[in-house]
Amino acid sequence: MEKEMSYGSDYKPIPATSMASGVGIEVLPDLYCHTVQIVNINLVGNPETNDFVLVDAGMPGSVNEIITATEARFGSTSRPKAIILTHGHFDHVGAVIELVKHWNVPVYAHELEMPFLTGKMSYPDPDPTVEGGLVAKISPLFPNEPINLGNKVETLPTNGKVPHMPKFRWIHTPGHTPGHVSFFRESDRALIAGDAFVNVKQESLYKVFTQEQEISGPPRYLTPDWEAAKNSVIELESLKPIVAVTGHGLPMTGELLSQSLEELVRDFDSIALPDYGKYVN
Ligand SMILES: [Zn+2]
Ligand SMILES: [Zn+2]
Repeated sequence: MEKEMSYGSDYKPIPATSMASGVGIEVLPDLYCHTVQIVNINLVGNPETNDFVLVDAGMPGSVNEIITATEARFGSTSRPKAIILTHGHFDHVGAVIELVKHWNVPVYAHELEMPFLTGKMSYPDPDPTVEGGLVAKISPLFPNEPINLGNKVETLPTNGKVPHMPKFRWIHTPGHTPGHVSFFRESDRALIAGDAFVNVKQESLYKVFTQEQEISGPPRYLTPDWEAAKNSVIELESLKPIVAVTGHGLPMTGELLSQSLEELVRDFDSIALPDYGKYVN
């Protein structure tokens, strides 16, 4: 019997936004990145084949925006084959339940992310005391309790393959969350990094608003394991991606991306690691 899906009791819209909100960018012919307020969703697949998936599911309350963006790209009544999650933070699963109901599609995530997607475990509390800007200060407002997708969520295959994303493989990139994954395609070195690193200083309300491009580690207020986070960045840099879309900020490509990633690895402790906060030392 199908169980009712539910959000946590602290689920609510968050009124933060950016200049990129509502804007979509065709990063590659089969990779479309759309910004919902302050977070990105990706439509992966070629519009001509109508065979595509949604990577991540936006902010709370964004279901209509996501359906509209999807239908604008793939045609009315189009639906993805699946929803694939980089991780289960509220800003990446904000509309997932409504979308699953509307499209009747499965959700995939890493095994270690399951407790947060099946109502079993809350994420660690966000850290408002962490070094950084105003977004960190308001982070206690963010929904933190697990959602419950019941039997609609499945684990990613253990062989690294990604359902309905034939040329991509998933890479376990923990640190920001235990089951965080990124997606990489060797043939054109395209990377969907989630929040393993991001292209904007996500702690700063001003920089989030302007979307000023600046490579950064994972959002500080929600990252409890900095050692794992650093190793994940090192692994992603070693893939030498040519194009990267991240959970927050504008897509980054070419020389700017490779130089920024090299810098992030080299100076991780000064760029990414907060000077203080409850999850450092
Ligand atoms: Zn996150
Ligand atoms: Zn995020």
